[in-house]
Amino acid sequence: MANWQSLYDELENLKKEGRYRPMTVWDSGSSTWMTLNGRRVLQMSSNNYLGLTGHPELKESAIAAIREYGVGSGSVRTITGTIRIHDELERELAAFKGTEAALVFQSGFTTNQGVLASILSPDDVVISDELNHASIIDGIRLTKSHRKIYAHKDMDQLEAALKQCSSYKKRIIVTDGVFSMDGDIAPLPAIVKLAETYDALVYVDDAHASGVLGKNGKGTTDHFGLNGRVHIQIGTLSKAVGVVGGYVAGDRVLKDFLIHKARPFLFSTSQTPAVAASCLAAIRVLRRSEERIAQLWANATYFRSGAQALGFDTGASETPIIPIIIGDPAKTMRFSDLLLEEGVFAQGIVYPTVAMDKGRVRFIVAAEHTREDLDIALGAMRRAYQKLSIIG
Ligand SMILES: *Cc1c(COP(=O)(O)O)cnc(C)c1O
Repeated sequence: MANWQSLYDELENLKKEGRYRPMTVWDSGSSTWMTLNGRRVLQMSSNNYLGLTGHPELKESAIAAIREYGVGSGSVRTITGTIRIHDELERELAAFKGTEAALVFQSGFTTNQGVLASILSPDDVVISDELNHASIIDGIRLTKSHRKIYAHKDMDQLEAALKQCSSYKKRIIVTDGVFSMDGDIAPLPAIVKLAETYDALVYVDDAHASGVLGKNGKGTTDHFGLNGRVHIQIGTLSKAVGVVGGYVAGDRVLKDFLIHKARPFLFSTSQTPAVAASCLAAIRVLRRSEERIAQLWANATYFRSGAQALGFDTGASETPIIPIIIGDPAKTMRFSDLLLEEGVFAQGIVYPTVAMDKGRVRFIVAAEHTREDLDIALGAMRRAYQKLSIIG
């Protein structure tokens, strides 16, 4: 028998700190109301911003693709794993983003890993916001490139780093478009200006901005009117787009390079036909989804103001990601548990995902939430917090 003592000890430690979580197993698919242990629960933590996971056009496209092509693609993209829908999806994404080209990966995570690990050489420097997503951090770790971290959205620190880095071959500034834990937006106009002054490339990860920010959900670059001035745009197909996958949008030469270098592209099987077909349908739906996106933002504003009126700290939120900052990890998880007792599911997020004293219950508002749903959530938050204050 293997000796798992060290793993066991670490798990015991998580339990002691109130950070141990059994996995939640749902009885129904992603929606605003879901079934958990036979009970209907108001769900306020999914990334299914626009309700596309259950959209009839996406479902029909997936079923048709399975009938025509089967359930698996049979290979990596560079052998027999590129079928017409993969190619069509990339053309559609490039047209949607207004870039020369787009390249699809199996997930947003592997997109960041694959792209960063391929384009960064030991002669380059990458300059990264301290709150960037784990997949960016891991992508950078895979390289021998020089690296600098700037304090969250601190443009003075970014400029100081750029000044020190003029001798490197390439300078790449990397930022999330929308930060996933706080729901704030990167100061992209200032970043682009600094990049132009100091001859750097700009890399934006729009995982939480895809389908959310900009015209038809084109992303942060479009939101700020910076089209043509951001060199590398990463998007996910897993969140608002409702399926799974990731992509990079940019110049044709970048795509051509990645086809030859990006390891998740070269060494992992391509998206299944059903996934590629439903992503393609999703982008087409997005192009006529102005109303859905407007509803999403109206809901976010309503819920954030409601939470603030109850005295909750919503941190830096300015998007449909609305954290309720509690602080202590154990207390944060208790608040999340008390909310579930009230019939509302919202995920507690604690150290090491966020700082030890910045535990939060992260609400993500969706376009499909009704005003009544949002009022139910606010009522539950008020009662749960009263109980939390009594229990301590
Ligand atoms: C969720 C997320 C990813 C990963 O996307 P997946 O498609 O779920 O793998 C990458 N970057 C950021 C900023 C994210 O929030």
